[in-house]
Amino acid sequence: MRTKSFLLIFVVCVAASLVSAQTPSQSRVNGQRIMQHIQALAEFGKNPQGGVSRVAYTEADRQGREYAMRLMREAGLEVAIDAAGNIVGSRAGSDPSLKPLLIGSHIDSVPEGGNYDGDVGSLSAIEVAQVLNEKGIKIRHPLQVIIFQNEEGGTVGSHILGEGFDDKLLNLKSQSGKTIGEGIPFIGGDLGRLAQVQRQPGSIAGYFELHIEQGAILEQAKINIGVVEGIVGILHSDVTIEGFANHAGTTPMNQRHDALLSAARFIEKVNQVVTSIPGRQVGTVGWIRVQPGAYNVIPGKVVLGLELRDLDEQKYEELFNSIRTETAQIGALNGTRFSFTEPVISHPALTDKSFQRLINDSAKSLGLTTKLMPSGAGHDAQEIARLGPVGMIFIPSIGGISHSPKEYSRPEDIENGANVLLLTVLNFDQKNH
Ligand SMILES: [Zn+2]
Repeated sequence: MRTKSFLLIFVVCVAASLVSAQTPSQSRVNGQRIMQHIQALAEFGKNPQGGVSRVAYTEADRQGREYAMRLMREAGLEVAIDAAGNIVGSRAGSDPSLKPLLIGSHIDSVPEGGNYDGDVGSLSAIEVAQVLNEKGIKIRHPLQVIIFQNEEGGTVGSHILGEGFDDKLLNLKSQSGKTIGEGIPFIGGDLGRLAQVQRQPGSIAGYFELHIEQGAILEQAKINIGVVEGIVGILHSDVTIEGFANHAGTTPMNQRHDALLSAARFIEKVNQVVTSIPGRQVGTVGWIRVQPGAYNVIPGKVVLGLELRDLDEQKYEELFNSIRTETAQIGALNGTRFSFTEPVISHPALTDKSFQRLINDSAKSLGLTTKLMPSGAGHDAQEIARLGPVGMIFIPSIGGISHSPKEYSRPEDIENGANVLLLTVLNFDQKNH
């Protein structure tokens, strides 16, 4: 009897300790703390519309970066600014032979931008490090939390990390008024050592980025988490339409070579061709210049910008060819001529399939709904994809609004996204990479 009751107490104690002991995968982020950090970061470059103008290489950018570095140190990260001006917070792993796992995003904004684009992913990545630190969880991989500089000006910091730089890039004028070459030292980079920033393909274990969707797909479908299949590639080409400028009062309607009329037909045709096949491809004519541009002159020349995007490179190349073919007919209607500049192409960057599964499984284990989707916007992840496998986690953007002070994501969605990021990092670390 004595032995039996002793055994019973023993069993109860063991069971109780099993219940109270938390495994790393039961760890969760502190959603309230992330929101406090988002609000505090929003003070730097705050604008009257309620958003933020924290353009890269401005004083507001520098102050925001200081704040982020303070948070990184509080999270136990060893903080450095690389020669390109990216902020890198490092945490040792238990197996130094493993390549580093990268997480992060950016905190610079467009002029009159919002408080979520980039900030959510950056501050959540810091929160992940903070949770690991507080719970004393040692992961096998060295962890690097990176805040890439000047994402909005063309993924500059991540581009230098992934592909390097050239003089053309350094001479490019940024939104701040400074060239990129002037901006890099302004935020603590070092042009003299810039060549050392580029990393070699295969030098990282992987990169995970949490980001707001910046579209309305998740909100409309009431889905918690978007698992990004890839970042779409972009093709653009300048289209010139030549007609004949003539008197708008004396030239009869049937004798006109109106370049703008052909442009109108062309714009309509772009929309028709792009929507004529199933898929998620998009096509846009986003700008137009009309010459000579007067009430009383029939437009003799039009130049406009055509852009096509899709995850599948072949698809937008085929669409481009179809659109070009159609122009012969449009031109024949009123005697105008079309010509296209050699298309400028940025290639699609696909995320890693096993990373997609990791993100999906992590979200599902948190009871969240998920959807595979492309990213129509560019991200730092597309540059880092040159170095190793990447994965991206999207959370809903209310109203699909971004690059605007009206940009908004709900605190619960941000907390969900950050928890998926945390769990994905832990699950990745446990697998054999
Ligand atoms: Zn962004």
